[in-house]
Amino acid sequence: MRCVQICDKVQSLNIWDIINTGKRTSVGVSKIRKITEADCALCGQCITHCPTGALRERDDVRKVMDAVNNPDKIVVAQIAPAVRASWGEGLGLAQHMATEKRMAAAARALGIDYVFDTNFSADLTIMEEANEFLERFTHRDEYRWPMFTSCCPGWVRFVKSQYPDMVKHLSTAKSPQQMFGAVAKSYFAEKILQTDPENIFCVSIMPCTAKKAEAALPNINDANAGRDVDAVLTTREFDRMLRSELITPANLEEEEFDSPLGTGSGAAVIFGATGGVMEAALRTAYYALHKENPKPDLFQSVRGLDGIKEATFDIAGTTIRTAVVHGLGNTRTLMERIKAKEADYDFVEVMACPGGCADGGGQPIIEGQEPAGERGAKLYALDQNNPLRFSHENPSVIALYNKYLEKPLSEKAHTLLHTDHEGWEMPS
Ligand code: SF4
Repeated sequence: MRCVQICDKVQSLNIWDIINTGKRTSVGVSKIRKITEADCALCGQCITHCPTGALRERDDVRKVMDAVNNPDKIVVAQIAPAVRASWGEGLGLAQHMATEKRMAAAARALGIDYVFDTNFSADLTIMEEANEFLERFTHRDEYRWPMFTSCCPGWVRFVKSQYPDMVKHLSTAKSPQQMFGAVAKSYFAEKILQTDPENIFCVSIMPCTAKKAEAALPNINDANAGRDVDAVLTTREFDRMLRSELITPANLEEEEFDSPLGTGSGAAVIFGATGGVMEAALRTAYYALHKENPKPDLFQSVRGLDGIKEATFDIAGTTIRTAVVHGLGNTRTLMERIKAKEADYDFVEVMACPGGCADGGGQPIIEGQEPAGERGAKLYALDQNNPLRFSHENPSVIALYNKYLEKPLSEKAHTLLHTDHEGWEMPS
């Protein structure tokens, strides 16, 4: 009954329940519904906390291998920040071998044509979201407050079902996964490969189960080439795919990500830890207001695993009140405080999974452990070691704006990189 407990006590959604009585007792969807009829956030925490393997995500490995084996398809992969902190766990790979570059080599060994990094589009998300925040902040009366991050599809589902009157508070910026898909099938197809975007098959490797549903949203595709993201694999599926193709990453040399969508900053890699999106956005907002960079670790008070973190920053004489929350039970507590006017913020980061994507529902399962802290520490170490610490200094993102999108929040950026969260419905 751990699925019932995690959903009830930690995520506050009560999707699972005990069905029937006596010897017919079993676990099922509460209120005698199908899972597709429930307002499930699809966070996948029931899967990662199931000790028996009774629950799993939809398996999309075959779909990806069919594309890899199709000579008419150019398979383009993106790998999310949190995957690099955990992918080796499902393969029994020693930590010093489970590097980002060996992960890129392993993806290439599967037959993927271009191995890119979601860190690139996480930087792009920051460019759009930080500028959106400043635009709202300087036209305060035209918007609802606080502004919420929108990069976690589990959280977007939660707010749509539990607090529908607060959907307008969400940033309209798409998640890094969806920004990547839109850019891969527009800029990359047109300007770099000079091919029909229909030839591209875009696959994401994610720590997340909710991203599978996000990629299938009816109003998320803006590159005019079918789905912007054709398939989403969890970290567990990626590991399974490597095993089933008999690839031994320990025998592979490290390789670089492909260019140009393979360059990411340290600000992007911490998206995988709770507080990371806020910290990355504040680094770029500081630059926008001051015209010079802050010390990269100036906003580190938003790090850590406390359920709700609050911090106020003075940037160029402007006070910005922030909150960072992870886990949907903590989120409900915060939302109730906001609704009751017991708390007042300008910018709030929400991640549906306890610990953020580091402990996402698609991550390798380590029975009895919650490894968000260790995985998050790996991501912060990668940030420290990256010579590029600011999203606005990512040369590939700058080139994308110069050659294609013009500037953050331009008309083209709005078409490709923003979405209408009210353009689709939750089941009930
Ligand atoms: Fe997915 Fe990360 Fe949100 Fe969990 S916290 S639902 S892994 S985006």
